[in-house]
Amino acid sequence: MNLVDQIGKLLNYGLFPPICRLCGNAGLPDWDLCLHCHRVLPRRPAPKLFGEGLVLAGFDYSTPIDGLIRHFKFHGQLDAGHLLARLCEPVFEDSRPMALVPVPLHLRRLRQRGFNQSLELARYWGRRRALPVLSGALVRHRETAVQSSLSAAERETNVQGAFRIEQPLPAHVALVDDVFTTGATCGAARDALLAAGVKRVDVWCLARVP
Ligand SMILES: [Zn+2]
Repeated sequence: MNLVDQIGKLLNYGLFPPICRLCGNAGLPDWDLCLHCHRVLPRRPAPKLFGEGLVLAGFDYSTPIDGLIRHFKFHGQLDAGHLLARLCEPVFEDSRPMALVPVPLHLRRLRQRGFNQSLELARYWGRRRALPVLSGALVRHRETAVQSSLSAAERETNVQGAFRIEQPLPAHVALVDDVFTTGATCGAARDALLAAGVKRVDVWCLARVP
């Protein structure tokens, strides 16, 4: 970092010191999170088998991560998403996909929400890991009911055949999603990827339901 950047950073830090997003106290340097809140974040779950691949999640889906995800996803607070994405980075350290594939929203849902939370995450992690983000490779061509309103069995039927592949893919990809619940959505997306010749599909997500 050159001198001008260093001075800029110091000035910025003096004028806008980091504030913890969760409790409002002073944040750790460069983090919108304080030491206390950082220490009491939910545990990092062990990788979960997913066919030939693994589900890697930053956290168990519980307080306060669930609240941060809601702010990100339903209230468009992208800074909450970036904080979560950054906190999850160490979990993907040993994972070596050749590209990231965000789980797509149906066009109508995308228009309602204005952004796809999975694409935001994929862009962040793709930048950090110098991995291509294949945002147009997987398309949700069939509109599906909101998964959270359904039982596990209904979720599976709801998303079956909802995805289509639109461009060539490498042999090993990581699907990016915000929350891994029953795995129905990622499972349906993986089926489409495997049918298109992908050999291994991992999942990178912020949280998974224990
Ligand atoms: Zn705090």
